[in-house]
Amino acid sequence: MTEPSTLAEWQQRAAAIEPRSDLYIHGKFSPAESGGTFESINPATGDLLTHVASAGPVDVDKAVRSARSAFNSRQWSGASPAHRKSVLQRLSSLILDNRHELALLDSMDMGKLVTDALTIDVPSAAELFAFYGEALDKISGEVAPTEPGNLALVTREPLGVVGAVTPWNFPLDMAVWKLAPALAAGNSVVLKPAEQASLSALRLAEVATEAGLPDGVLNVVTGPGEITGKALGLHPDVDCIAFTGSTAVGKLFLRYASESNLKQVWPECGGKSPNLIFADCADLDAAVAAACGGIFANQGEVCSANSRLLVDRSIHDEVLTKITAAAREYAPGDPLDPASRMGAMVNEDHIQQVLSFIEEARNSARLLTGGARTYVDGRGCFLEPTVFADVDPASRIAKEEIFGPVLCITPFDSEAHAIELANDSVYGLAASVWTADLSRSLRVSAALRAGTVSVNTVDALSAQTPFGGFGQSGFGRDLSLHALDKYSGLKTTWIKH
Ligand code: NAD
Repeated sequence: MTEPSTLAEWQQRAAAIEPRSDLYIHGKFSPAESGGTFESINPATGDLLTHVASAGPVDVDKAVRSARSAFNSRQWSGASPAHRKSVLQRLSSLILDNRHELALLDSMDMGKLVTDALTIDVPSAAELFAFYGEALDKISGEVAPTEPGNLALVTREPLGVVGAVTPWNFPLDMAVWKLAPALAAGNSVVLKPAEQASLSALRLAEVATEAGLPDGVLNVVTGPGEITGKALGLHPDVDCIAFTGSTAVGKLFLRYASESNLKQVWPECGGKSPNLIFADCADLDAAVAAACGGIFANQGEVCSANSRLLVDRSIHDEVLTKITAAAREYAPGDPLDPASRMGAMVNEDHIQQVLSFIEEARNSARLLTGGARTYVDGRGCFLEPTVFADVDPASRIAKEEIFGPVLCITPFDSEAHAIELANDSVYGLAASVWTADLSRSLRVSAALRAGTVSVNTVDALSAQTPFGGFGQSGFGRDLSLHALDKYSGLKTTWIKH
């Protein structure tokens, strides 16, 4: 299959897509019981993509029952590890076979660059199914060192029905971060994607069935958070909620659990990640380029976006000049055009919310570049890459997650001051440090309250390493073998002999 390399080629493929839009329950698409739907709009054009089924509590219950009956049948939960591995590996390769469609679905649904979706998101999704598929037949249980005459086996058991609730910023990947380890561990899953971007999840479920996943092991219920997500969070027969999204909604899921059946909840939430550039940074141009990538990639709609840039005062002015020039290169363009550097914001509500942060900041900080909405071919939700200097660490733009292409720069006067500013946040998801001094890199990394610290790079991430945060960024970890722990419980079996 040749790779599309021009806007016209992508547009041609996009026109051929017929998005799935019904609920996916027990291996079949079906409308919501109520017949209700909501609109899926392409934020780059304003065009209607499709009407997506809106699941109510009855539909969520149907999906949970399907997941439970699949789990109890043991067709998946009791299958040999070798079989589960082969299905997940087949799913991995089918994702790659369907890469153009999956990349386009995410791009058209939420505005990200299709080339990013094709070269980053889709291969990452495929890699994760391969990673967890490969891992699952290499994990053994334990024999505990008990008194003679006793044999105590410690095994990891799947939890049962996992509810996965995901955000819209990386629709495919955020779903797969939950699905791959949950399915590898033998669970059944009900996935509730964000209503702003549900289409790739529906297609993925269909591809999973094609790969050999038994009916009911993966169900997808689409709909608004306050209805569909809430019904899943409150459902008495869901064993665990794996959530990625905002801190406010993460807190709601903890409440739903306490009001229902004490299901386990793993919230992966927001961030306000600092990026520290010290004067001894070996390559300032690289640091500046990475700082821009760290906030403008995916339109800044990234949980671990390096949204606070903290710069040593002695190089501050030089950095401001370089950043201003580098930021301007991220002018937004058609997400299907391989030449575009930044895509569209997810929807009208969100762009208005980001603009309100910008308007407020104009009074308290110095706008270096950007700050305005733009249009591509006269339409769409596009925002200029925006940089503020002299940002007061106590101001709202320095404290709250903006979730857009808005960089906030504040100078620091010493290493201790840099650490103090960096840690002055309720969040603790990620941080970056630029220095050529090894001792400083270790000292500062140790002092930063962040789930991931990247030194001389930004936002480093891999299938093999855990990802998650401290504080109100949530708890639990996605990715790596550690993620498997969330989807299983320890069981001890005693045998007297
Ligand atoms: P969100 O919290 O609004 O929604 C996330 C999910 O929760 C969606 O599926 C939504 O429908 C559902 N939901 C919303 N309200 C609900 C309610 N009242 N009851 C039940 N479910 C509800 O988040 P979003 O706007 O989709 O995504 C952006 C957020 O996600 C940002 O805060 C970002 O930092 C965070 N995020 C975190 C990570 C991470 O790994 N820590 C990764 C990506 C995004």
